[in-house]
Amino acid sequence: MSEMLDWVKARVRCCSCEGSLQSSRYVNMVALLKEATWKYPVHGNILVYPKYPTNRAVAVLCDRCIDQRREPKYAVEWDKDRTQVEYHRVEGLKDLAPIPESSSSASAGRGLGEGASSGEGVGKAGVRMMGGK
Ligand SMILES: [Zn+2]
Repeated sequence: MSEMLDWVKARVRCCSCEGSLQSSRYVNMVALLKEATWKYPVHGNILVYPKYPTNRAVAVLCDRCIDQRREPKYAVEWDKDRTQVEYHRVEGLKDLAPIPESSSSASAGRGLGEGASSGEGVGKAGVRMMGGK
């Protein structure tokens, strides 16, 4: 388990039930079809970046909410130094068009804003990346 995931579990609450993630096996990152006006964490896609340059918001959900297919109520934001966590109500964010499956499926994505560069991005054990609707 990476240091970053430990931090997420300790500091970030589930974006649906607002419960703790401590007992959750996975840190479930859900890509939202919403514009992120902040830097971390965001979901993007390097392959389609020229066409879809807008950063997309991410929600973190506990295993229970994933199993029960609950919708995220919030998108989560944290700062570069991970000293602050903020939540943004999903309905307050700007809608974005989905990226067509054909252009996004082949990519590894940019993953988490900070994760991509430090090797803690999408696909490592302990993180489940869920697509948007
Ligand atoms: Zn939950």
